[in-house]
Amino acid sequence: MNRYEELADRFGTPLFVYDLDEITAARRELTDALPEEFELFYALKANPHPEVVRALREGAGKGCRAEISSTGELAAALAAGFTGADCLYTGPGKTDEELREAIGQGVRMFSTDSVTDVRRVGAVAREHGVVVDCLLRVNSAAASATTSIRMTGTPSQFGFDSETLGEVLPELRAVDGIELAGMHFFPLSNARDEESLIGEFNHTIGLAAQLQDDLGLPLRYLDIGGGFTVPYAVPGARGHYPKLRSELSATLDLLLPDWRTGTPRLACESGRFLVGAGGTLLARVSNVKVSRGRKFVILDAGINTFGGMSGLGRLLPVAVQPVDGEPVESASLVGPLCTPGDILGRQIELPALAAGDLVTIPNAGAYGPTASLLMFLGRPAPTEVVVRGDEVVSVSRIEHHRSYETELVR
Ligand SMILES: *Cc1c(COP(=O)(O)O)cnc(C)c1O
Repeated sequence: MNRYEELADRFGTPLFVYDLDEITAARRELTDALPEEFELFYALKANPHPEVVRALREGAGKGCRAEISSTGELAAALAAGFTGADCLYTGPGKTDEELREAIGQGVRMFSTDSVTDVRRVGAVAREHGVVVDCLLRVNSAAASATTSIRMTGTPSQFGFDSETLGEVLPELRAVDGIELAGMHFFPLSNARDEESLIGEFNHTIGLAAQLQDDLGLPLRYLDIGGGFTVPYAVPGARGHYPKLRSELSATLDLLLPDWRTGTPRLACESGRFLVGAGGTLLARVSNVKVSRGRKFVILDAGINTFGGMSGLGRLLPVAVQPVDGEPVESASLVGPLCTPGDILGRQIELPALAAGDLVTIPNAGAYGPTASLLMFLGRPAPTEVVVRGDEVVSVSRIEHHRSYETELVR
């Protein structure tokens, strides 16, 4: 019996298996691909499992810091051993309540998206008698020419429009309780290749240097974002960035020549690259049926378990790896939910499968359970097992329950 059969027998399916060795390897690859002066933030959104987060914080080599965006992610970061001071808090809709929790727990760096956002951070910081760092998230008026994925240059809830940042700067400077510490960019996710990634980073560094010069914008800290890639639920390897380190160094030497002595301090961010390949989803075939000549393979894992974001066009189709042998037949791969939307792959090539067979879905460590429709149709969340090599480190499952009024009073 292979390892996955063994784990599936022991813990049931659907089952996510996260391998900490693989996650540590990804972290090392990425820190090695960046100049050593860079800090790396792990975006907990990709997978907030505390053991996964812990593996990215500690271990041999340089650990990550935590990029969080909610009270729940803050709790996950703290549970994994981070302190508030290790965290960068981002997001366009921060509330006073979340900010109180974050600042109370020692978070001192926030990425901010609007004047209101900065004022709100400042007000809560003053309540606590502290001064916190605000990075201004910048929505560049133009994206780099070498990328096709544009998350900036268009209207967005994220960031300050670069072309009008100068107009609001006096208002931002007048806010007490905060220090304008620098800038944050996150113009793209999942860059197509190393060239587009480098092009985007060069563009970002150029814009940061220009805003610093033109507007006198403080730049003690510069987070240039991410875009590091890994396949999602299909076979394949993490992106490879052999030129990144030297190209980034060259650009920084030219545009921000004091960077090597910490002015500004620099950071990148990643979610999927760090954890994607470290996860595998195991599911069993519940049934195989034919309707009007078409075959449907029904798994015990659907969009309640994985791929709840397929509506964003981010997923379809997943690839199930043959348990034995090669893909042989065309069939639709569907989940158990009572909705025609519960599709993991429409008319894709699958191995010959029968009820009871185990399938594995590779590269499933990012945007898994917490990015899925966990509550929909009332099935239990998938079990998540964390392994390090052959050792099982932890077995857990997210439980949801309804809290009533007395538990909700704040
Ligand atoms: C989602 C997000 C990330 C992580 O994105 P990946 O594509 O998973 O690397 C990083 N930074 C910010 C600000 C994000 O919103």
